[in-house]
Amino acid sequence: MPQNPDKIVDHLELFKQEEYTKLFKNKHDQFEGAHPDAEIERVSEWTKSWEYREKNFAREALTVNPAKGCQPVGAMFAALGVEATLPFVQGSQGCVAYFRTHLSRHYKEPCSAVSSSMTEDAAVFGGLNNMIEGLEVAYKLYKPKMIAVCTTCMAEVIGDDLGAFIGSAKNAGAVPQNLPVPFAHTPSFVGSHTTGYDNMMKGILLNLTEGKKGKPNGKINIISGFDTYVGNNREVKRMLNVMDVAHTIVSDTSDYFDSPNDGDFQMYPGGTKIEDVEDTINAKATVCLQRYTTQKTREYIEKTWKQDTKVLRPFGVKGTDEFLMAISEITGKSIPTELEIERGRLVDAMTDSYAWIHGKKFAIYGDPDLIYSVTSFLLEMGAEPVHILCNNGDQEFKAEMETMLKASPFGQNATVWIQKDLWHFRSLMCMLSNHFLCSDGNELMWGYQERNCPKSL
Ligand code: SF4
Repeated sequence: MPQNPDKIVDHLELFKQEEYTKLFKNKHDQFEGAHPDAEIERVSEWTKSWEYREKNFAREALTVNPAKGCQPVGAMFAALGVEATLPFVQGSQGCVAYFRTHLSRHYKEPCSAVSSSMTEDAAVFGGLNNMIEGLEVAYKLYKPKMIAVCTTCMAEVIGDDLGAFIGSAKNAGAVPQNLPVPFAHTPSFVGSHTTGYDNMMKGILLNLTEGKKGKPNGKINIISGFDTYVGNNREVKRMLNVMDVAHTIVSDTSDYFDSPNDGDFQMYPGGTKIEDVEDTINAKATVCLQRYTTQKTREYIEKTWKQDTKVLRPFGVKGTDEFLMAISEITGKSIPTELEIERGRLVDAMTDSYAWIHGKKFAIYGDPDLIYSVTSFLLEMGAEPVHILCNNGDQEFKAEMETMLKASPFGQNATVWIQKDLWHFRSLMCMLSNHFLCSDGNELMWGYQERNCPKSL
């Protein structure tokens, strides 16, 4: 028994001990029917070749690690930014455990969401009973001010009608009639987490602003989009406060996913006040900080509220300049010297570090708006993007990216790949050497693990 209770050894060290190495070898030789190591090595090397890359890109019927999340993840993210809101997912419990885990693990913060735990009987008879009972229990147990309902694939395949179900649940007395229960259908077999964010944001605005048209409040609405860097909300608020611009960040997750550790658990830290969301219909304009996570929301605001919308991405010098100048134009407020000085410091820092980035090759993947902003900043720094991959990007995104890349001397050799996955990306990486990779932590590990593959950043 190699493990000693007085000195517990980490599994990585433990499995190197003789008892385990023998056990693994016997399993491998006698039961797994595995190929010889040399053959595995040969095939592994072949998967890094041009021949394999061509076969990989000819693939049609299989996706390998698509680098996108399910729609309900985005819907939950939008909902959690509103004061005391409990996301309620109509569908399977396992899906919701994954969404909560994903967000909790990323932020190292608790993430609350409930599911209606649909199982086989609901798959046959529909999920109405699950919805009624689930809403009742969730409301009594967790006392939210709003419950935001979205769906998993199961409820969508069955065809559950959320609007009718919520009405029935209210009529059955499961929750008070005046409790806001916005909803969004979020089937994950189309779109991604960014689509789910858009659907839920539209659902929340539709629910909370209905019949609230009143006097203009002179404010600007800011919709951040599926931006997981929640500190960005704080920075945008700071800049708007310095400019003395009255504003509402619609769905502000910065306190929810970055809450202070004061020893007490708060189920609903921070978030945009419900009355502020209700008043967004009376704002001067709505500024969205992402384009591809707010398409339906912007269409709704423009057509139903008759309110102007703008997409402005305050990332890098150009993006932030455009943002501040547009806010100044909309509100008539001037850009204060304080922000001009900060801009000068940023340009100075960029100039100081330019030599380290200029001419370096980059491969990038991620969500459409994140990629756009990161690429824009890299071009400002003289970096040369080579491959840019976006699984959940569409033709509009590709065209927008190519316009930006063509306009810069550093973007001439870049290729934009849409609707490709991370196995495609691996093939692209294996053809390159001495370049940097902009990606998430998993890919950083992956980059290190892959022999002969380029370095990660
Ligand atoms: S793809 Fe559908 S079934 Fe799978 S985890 Fe996402 S929501 Fe659930």
